[in-house]
Amino acid sequence: MKKIYNFSAGPAMLPEEVLKRAETELMNYKGKGMSVTELAPDSKEFLDIIRSAERALRELMNIPQNYKVLFLQGGASTQFAAIPLNLLSERRCADYVITGQYSRNAYLQAKQYGDIVIAASSAGASPAFSTVPELRGANFRPDADYVHICYNNTVYGTKFPSIPETGSIPLVANMSSCILSEPIDVSRFALIYASAQKNIAPAGMTLVIVRDDLIGSSREGTPFMLDYKLLSDSKSMYNTPPCYQIYMAKLMFEWILSVGGLDEMKRRNERKASLLYDYLDGQQYYTAPVDKRCRSMTNIIFVTGDAKLDAKFAKEADKAGFKNLKGHSSVGGIRASIYNSMPEEGVIALVTFMKQFAQDNPKIQG
Ligand code: PMP
Repeated sequence: MKKIYNFSAGPAMLPEEVLKRAETELMNYKGKGMSVTELAPDSKEFLDIIRSAERALRELMNIPQNYKVLFLQGGASTQFAAIPLNLLSERRCADYVITGQYSRNAYLQAKQYGDIVIAASSAGASPAFSTVPELRGANFRPDADYVHICYNNTVYGTKFPSIPETGSIPLVANMSSCILSEPIDVSRFALIYASAQKNIAPAGMTLVIVRDDLIGSSREGTPFMLDYKLLSDSKSMYNTPPCYQIYMAKLMFEWILSVGGLDEMKRRNERKASLLYDYLDGQQYYTAPVDKRCRSMTNIIFVTGDAKLDAKFAKEADKAGFKNLKGHSSVGGIRASIYNSMPEEGVIALVTFMKQFAQDNPKIQG
């Protein structure tokens, strides 16, 4: 079979080593004669899996002891509601930074629960959301219960160049498309959440890392399934957890540890991103529209400047084995998502394809 590289923004590729291990344990888990998918959530085998997953993640991200790790269902989008329901105090006010569609969705959802304002936005940039706002000295309300950001913007290919300073106001970050791509100081955040389908596991699980002191004050009427206290007291097992995704996450965390942890992921991801950005910056055929100050290392956007040519590029790339390069339907263009599991050879091969495509498809001047 021809080598395929999947540049999807999620569900994304998983490392071959992880898939092979999953394949061997799918039919007969550790000689039990049954599939890993059949394990009862309260069986010794599954409890070993979920505890090992948490242990490996804590080691990888150096998660302080005063943070809980939750493996939940419902996608990152469910957290758009869970966060205000759990974190808003009597004052019910929170500040949101809008840097794309997921931060906007989070804001619109939170607005149903309190006095939520947009503290900063890059909607007015040209092209829209091609940058993230400078937040130094931003006007966060000093009595805000939290500030919410989307750390890496999957659709627009931007990322905050550093962790925004919010003083004593708790910082909440959606890290769906950059979690585990590099070391991060967890203690700077009150809460980090991420859906699994980019850098962790197949779709169907959401990771929440939340500081202890923020658990236990959900507002009245919070659905039990969204209440961090219930979820944390039950160790992510208030109901049937996303067992298979947790198992796959454990394999992924162990794989990252085995190849050198997040320092190594950062080294690999920076190399891959540089291969693409250096090529983009050194030629004129394609344009990378994102502000260089805040380019994403995991979602790389480029355009030819001609929508028809962009579509032709995605179609021909697909035929050549480079899958899912079409930009998000809301922005068009081309997007290469190169999470941890994308090998460097995939990016090198893509750049070779891009050069050939540019040669074969000269732009008509005028
Ligand atoms: N946030 C970000 C940054 C995303 O990229 C996505 C999905 N692409 C979401 C939220 C939504 O995640 P889910 O589909 O798991 O709700």
